[in-house]
Amino acid sequence: MTIGVAVLGATGSIGTSTLRVLERQRERYRVVALTANRAADALRVLATAWGRPYCGTVAADGSACLVEAATHPDAEIVVNAVVGAAGLEATLAALRAGKRVALANKESLVMAGDLVLRAAVDGGGEIVPIDSEHSAVLQCITGHPESLARLTLTASGGPFREWPAERVRCATVEEALRHPTWRMGRKITVDSATLANKALEVIEAHFLFGLPYDAIEVVVHPQSIVHGFVEFVDGSILAQVGHPTMELPILYALTHPERVPDGGARRFDAVTQGGLTFEAVRRDAFPTFGLGVAAGKDGGTAPAAFNAANEAAVAAFLDGSIAFGRIPELIADVLDAHANGPADELDAVLAADRAARARVGEALA
Ligand code: NAD
Ligand code: MG
Repeated sequence: MTIGVAVLGATGSIGTSTLRVLERQRERYRVVALTANRAADALRVLATAWGRPYCGTVAADGSACLVEAATHPDAEIVVNAVVGAAGLEATLAALRAGKRVALANKESLVMAGDLVLRAAVDGGGEIVPIDSEHSAVLQCITGHPESLARLTLTASGGPFREWPAERVRCATVEEALRHPTWRMGRKITVDSATLANKALEVIEAHFLFGLPYDAIEVVVHPQSIVHGFVEFVDGSILAQVGHPTMELPILYALTHPERVPDGGARRFDAVTQGGLTFEAVRRDAFPTFGLGVAAGKDGGTAPAAFNAANEAAVAAFLDGSIAFGRIPELIADVLDAHANGPADELDAVLAADRAARARVGEALA
């Protein structure tokens, strides 16, 4: 008997990689639901290939299709590969329905980490990260999670790693979308250029692994070969290593804690690879990183405000309305104005999200 999988955001970068993994693993998994934002034609093609599962697009069916797919009775695993705040409700619904959520949509945990963890406890669901750094940490701690003392997430540094700060501020959309090591959707690619993505990942790690912020570090590693390090209580350090491909962490999110044979990863040869280098984050050139980590430490609804301000600012950058350097300025303005409060109700989180977007909208008007 195969395991039913729902894929939310099936037409995106992670969605497409997920379907490629599932194609190789057809004897283990079947697709029971697919969603996309628009792209009805692309979804129809996928539906035919996968034996006509439930299909929903937000454009035609409204955002209710995400919850419909996330709670599909035949789905044991829900791959949440939606981009942005739009993924939150589906994460909560799937966990409350007792599903395993293979989570690419890190924004869910950033906006509402406590609510997401509570939904998992209440519904008997389980969160397994797809994000490569968090998958690396999970792979390293599996077997002795209680001995984890500290962790380090690696960052490629993005396309502007070596640029002077004043040049970074004037970067064009085309330059920001030219990521050196990963091929991803547009939003996360810009997040990788500002290092907002790494701040989101620090917050994601805090909730996933239950560590305080001072036990979570980030190191720039331009080769993107080491995906994460964990340090155990006895001082020993483990790392997970491999060529950058999301197919491996996607497969692991499906099979954890087991492993299954799969041909998705390119063989790694240490000698051919040559040097691996590590350096500190240049916080002055990438102020969005510090803003995001500070919002994480503040807790409450501050991470939701950071996330929404970032989404709105990145959308404005991508449509040509603002310069790259305006992104951290808009976020800082939102966080300055943010009246922080507890994030123990979904309404509070969504209100913080709306207020942040409205403030960015006013600043741009
Ligand atoms: P993408 O833009 O390529 O795909 C996004 C998918 O979500 C598409 O299927 C799109 O139709 C759907 N979508 C967009 N807006 C939506 C909305 N409002 N409501 C419902 N569906 C919507 O993005 P991606 O690069 O695949 O990233 C998806 C998520 O995975 C993000 O949270 C990202 O941070 C995370 N992630 C991506 C990568 C990567 O390599 N691409 C790596 C780690 C984490
Ligand atoms: Mg990542």
